[in-house]
Amino acid sequence: MAKTEVLIIGGGIAGATAALRLARNPKRQITIITRASEPQESNTRYAQGGIIGAGLDDSSELLLKDILDAGAGVSSPHAARILATEGPPLLTEVLEKTAGVVFDHAETGEPLWGQEAAHSRRRILHVGDITGRAIMEGLSAALAKCDNVKIETNATAVDLITFPHHSRDPLDNYRPISCHGSYVFDRNESSVHRYLSHATILATGGLGRIYRNTTNPPGARGDGLAMAHRAGARIANAEYVQFHPTALSVPGAEGLLISEAVRGEGGVLLTPDLRSFMSDYSPKWKDLAPRDVVARAIHHEMETHGYSHVLLDLASHMPPEKIRDRFPYIYEQCLKVGIDFSHEPVPVVPAAHYFCGGVLVDEWGRTDIENLYAIGEISCTGVHGANRLASTSLLEGLVWGNRAASHVENALSSETSVQPRFDDIPPWDESGLSADPDPALIQGDMQTIQNIMWHYVGLVRNADRLSRAIRELRHLWNEIETFYRTR
Ligand SMILES: Cc1cc2nc3c(=O)[nH]c(=O)nc-3n(C[C@H](O)[C@H](O)[C@H](O)COP(=O)(O)OP(=O)(O)OC[C@H]3O[C@@H](n4cnc5c(N)ncnc54)[C@H](O)[C@@H]3O)c2cc1C
Repeated sequence: MAKTEVLIIGGGIAGATAALRLARNPKRQITIITRASEPQESNTRYAQGGIIGAGLDDSSELLLKDILDAGAGVSSPHAARILATEGPPLLTEVLEKTAGVVFDHAETGEPLWGQEAAHSRRRILHVGDITGRAIMEGLSAALAKCDNVKIETNATAVDLITFPHHSRDPLDNYRPISCHGSYVFDRNESSVHRYLSHATILATGGLGRIYRNTTNPPGARGDGLAMAHRAGARIANAEYVQFHPTALSVPGAEGLLISEAVRGEGGVLLTPDLRSFMSDYSPKWKDLAPRDVVARAIHHEMETHGYSHVLLDLASHMPPEKIRDRFPYIYEQCLKVGIDFSHEPVPVVPAAHYFCGGVLVDEWGRTDIENLYAIGEISCTGVHGANRLASTSLLEGLVWGNRAASHVENALSSETSVQPRFDDIPPWDESGLSADPDPALIQGDMQTIQNIMWHYVGLVRNADRLSRAIRELRHLWNEIETFYRTR
């Protein structure tokens, strides 16, 4: 059992930024929980390409236009404008000044701006191809200096505590739904505890792991989305899952992202018989077309010609030493599975990468449940529309992490919100539980979900595939419900 003023569920860029902003008030008590055993483990940690800054000859209007164009008419212009105007200055304030991240730069001090698909300017700041790792190290170091932030690892949020659902007072039925914290599974003790809070911020990241092929690490299972949905929060644009066109397709290293920056630096997609094909699908942008266009083009080539993969060739367009210098992580990881990325093309396939939809929030990260905020990849701010522009997601975590925290700060300073007592909220009900859960059943269910999502709710969808997915998932849902109620 724990009490805190602000409970932040998830410690990637969004959760960490919110915590840093809140920690500025020394009176605030903030708790970050993460299901991972290591505090920096998150999607953020694996980000390669970089994050958007204010590039050369750039402006927030140009960035706004690129975001809206990539979003296929579904992005919210208001949200995209917030990102385009607040993002780059916040990057300097939080990442460079507070977290001390040093992005790649020339000897003159001028940033080495990277180019990515569908960006009209070179505006991507990066730290080699391990930008996410550098960001998480910087944010963690900054958080370590905050006495009022507590970080708990191996702590998995399993359900939000909401009224009237968890309330013992029948009169709560007449009040709006409100959130008062979370039930949290402590993996060290194998037990579930109540965490009470005045404000709860969901920052649990994406859901790539519900697909068979994904670039996401194991923690990205959509936990936050499921909890928010069960609690009655509105979910928007859940159909817009972004598939990254180029994940490595080699046994033993499936899912390793081959960053978009590789095409930004001149990499070209080829069929296995070395035919370049992107100009057939996007005469204007060719290999630098938006992700959805490139991913569908690869899928189409693979399906039409029966290829198991296509190739991505940078070696013919950049000297080997430059490749090793610019993409050390990708180079090293490819070498481990016998491919010299600086001398030969790499086999790639599309993979689930980013969740454009999520828990619907307003410009301050507020959900439609009182005291519940959602930030980062779990949220739908409207920025990404039907397709995310490359390198906007880290920036979105930064902007909405900061915004949600400042809203929470104002709310806590101005209101005399009363936290419920532990007695008001029932402990986790463990009655009727029997033997230890059978891991084979859990693993089997997860693999079934991943296969259904990949085949029927993947890159190309139609009514037959979606109906099949609904039927099979409904059946599985019944099985899983019974399993969890008795184990
Ligand atoms: C391989 C890869 C490369 C990428 N490259 C880029 C890039 O170059 N530029 C860019 O802008 N974006 C990139 N992205 C996307 C970007 O990294 C993510 O969208 C972003 O980091 C999400 O940040 P977040 O804070 O919302 O979530 P995450 O960073 O994913 O953090 C989620 C946190 O929630 C925790 N969590 C999850 N479930 C629970 C639970 N039930 N209970 C408790 N804790 C929980 C996790 O442990 C973690 O701490 C990339 C993504 C991947 C996978």
